[in-house]
Amino acid sequence: MAVRVPEIFGEMVFSDKVMKERLDKETYLAVCRVRDGKETLSAATAEKVANAMKDWAIEKGATHFTHWFQPMTGITAEKHDGFISPVGGDRVIMDFSFKSLVKGESDASSLPSGGLRSTFEARGYTAWDPTSYAFVKDGSLYIPTAFCSYGGEALDKKTPLLRSSDAINRESLRILKLFGNKTAKKVTAMVGAEQEYFLIDKSVYEKRLDLIHCGRTLFGARPSKGQELDDHYYGAIKTAVSDYMKDLDEELWRLGVLAKTKHNEAAPAQHELAPIFTSANLATDQNQLTMEIMQNVANRHGLVCLLSEKPFEKVNGSGKHINWSLMTDEGENLLEPGKTPTTNAQFLLFLTAVIKGVDEYADMLRISVASAGNDHRLGEKEAPPAIISIYLGEELDGVLSAIEEGAPYNKKEKGDLKVGVSALPPIPVDSTDRNRTSPFAFTGNKFEFRMVGSSSNIACPVFVLNTIVADELSGFADRLEKAKDFNSELSLLIKETLKNHKRVIYSGNSYSDEWKKEAKKRGLLNLETTVDALPLYDSEKNVSMFERQKVLSKSEIISRKEILLENYANIVHIEALTAIDIANREITPAVIGYQNFVLTELEKKKAHGDLPTRLEEELLKKLACLSSDYSKKLDVLNKDAEGFNRKIGNLEKSVYCKEVLLKDMKEVRAVADEMELIIGKTFITFPNYEDILYSVKY
Ligand code: ADP
Ligand code: MG
Repeated sequence: MAVRVPEIFGEMVFSDKVMKERLDKETYLAVCRVRDGKETLSAATAEKVANAMKDWAIEKGATHFTHWFQPMTGITAEKHDGFISPVGGDRVIMDFSFKSLVKGESDASSLPSGGLRSTFEARGYTAWDPTSYAFVKDGSLYIPTAFCSYGGEALDKKTPLLRSSDAINRESLRILKLFGNKTAKKVTAMVGAEQEYFLIDKSVYEKRLDLIHCGRTLFGARPSKGQELDDHYYGAIKTAVSDYMKDLDEELWRLGVLAKTKHNEAAPAQHELAPIFTSANLATDQNQLTMEIMQNVANRHGLVCLLSEKPFEKVNGSGKHINWSLMTDEGENLLEPGKTPTTNAQFLLFLTAVIKGVDEYADMLRISVASAGNDHRLGEKEAPPAIISIYLGEELDGVLSAIEEGAPYNKKEKGDLKVGVSALPPIPVDSTDRNRTSPFAFTGNKFEFRMVGSSSNIACPVFVLNTIVADELSGFADRLEKAKDFNSELSLLIKETLKNHKRVIYSGNSYSDEWKKEAKKRGLLNLETTVDALPLYDSEKNVSMFERQKVLSKSEIISRKEILLENYANIVHIEALTAIDIANREITPAVIGYQNFVLTELEKKKAHGDLPTRLEEELLKKLACLSSDYSKKLDVLNKDAEGFNRKIGNLEKSVYCKEVLLKDMKEVRAVADEMELIIGKTFITFPNYEDILYSVKY
């Protein structure tokens, strides 16, 4: 049956439209003012909203409500309470007080706090975020909330995002005012997150302990057919996948997610879903929801959706490109090159702020996408390297160098165009971005940050981006507000900034080895792993930037660093233990079993007399050699995995994981994978790469 998209779209969301219909005008306007940060929520308004929300949710089948939040675990958290309330005489009513809407006490002592909260004062609280929308799912009303410690310190991913939205709004408005815009009231970061994922059959997934525990394979020889033929990218979508995508779209539409684009990606079994961009906060909530629904719908279809960054070695990993721009409440995209000299100069100033911010806080951008999983993807010649650089495109590169040199800009086909900030020509920007290797590319009217990993909560990269740009804009505004001659100061500022920060602009192939050398010469950071990047989080430069913009305090930053390091160490340690289990219980028996089989066959032949035995003998020699190597390497991994528990502190543990455990695992894997290619298939209990990557057949 055909889906009537306009009818079902957002039907499970307590959206602006629903609020307008269900709240009296005064209450609705009060909510709008709260949303815009113009006033705080009064008890009377909250009471009315809570009631309307409850009645609406019950009509949608809800019996419970939950404060929905995004702790530092990376996934969302929820605890459901019924609306049920006894009124005596064995009767109950459905009740939802405004207090339950606005604030939740949460004994979340098992959620990570990085030392901000000790278990004896475990209380944290969740606070309603009116800038996002409540929705009904699985019989519960979900209320998006921020999660803080009792003292108000951020314990989640959303709080810094909300604070950064304030910062970018405040500082952008200062700049707009300088350019004579007195009507814009709000500037919002807009985000569209393209989500990549793998879809495999549940039957193969269930036989792989590594996929179950770690979301990625720890063993597996290369398949004889990978993505060499480029026959998957944009290829015809198989029926099972297409059925899945249809179901997924429909569920997302009901929840108000603007799911728009879907296609096969480069690797076999890899796909992408992209929504239409929306405000950063909503995009973050919706991406978290999307990842969850992707997994649930897959389960219903007998499939498993893998979101980890590098599920298969030597096969392209999954990212989540974040498209980012700044939009005024009047609909002006501040990253859109303008048509008049003034709007063009304004565009150039915002562009320059991004360039400066990315150069000065490249470490923070790297940190914002750092995770054990993403380390395997970055720098694998399929994803941007760990070096942060900006791609602007030929046209803009030309304009910027002309400005820097104070020379006229020669646009080839149309002859000379005079460039001076006070009288800029329209900048023709080629919005087709021909460089797909850049980690941070300007794509006509937005930036695309391509380093983000597929499983990551986008709140982190977005709040970092918002804050660094806000901070640069703030510095620019300080200077320009004092200027005697605005135009000449502006011109000077842009010129100076470009000169000082152009090292971060790079148009070549970011995947190449030459770029690594060149980047080093330019003094750009190459923080290859999470463990290299995280210690820079609380450097003086970063702490003062986050404090200046009131986004994170020093103690919040330290707590975040600790949580991320701990998380990294735990993940790698679990991977090491899983690798040991698979080796001992599945690979070793397969090797011994196969050796025995070949040996028995050889003996049978020998007993027979004159049959040739070269095949068996050579195979046995090869297996003997490989298996003894494997046995030695496995011993090392075993011993080192025990050593993990003797390490103290998150940094020491993480360094040990990176320098010892990951290396040991790699060594064991290399031999195991080599053996996999010569051992009879029936002797191996788990599905191989081919079985997995081509598990969805029709
Ligand atoms: P591509 O694969 O070429 O990068 P897609 O169409 O897959 O392009 O994704 C582009 C993403 O960028 C979409 O999510 C889209 O909504 C988003 N986007 C488009 N314009 C803007 C903008 N001004 N600000 C933020 N995101 C945007
Ligand atoms: Mg993209």
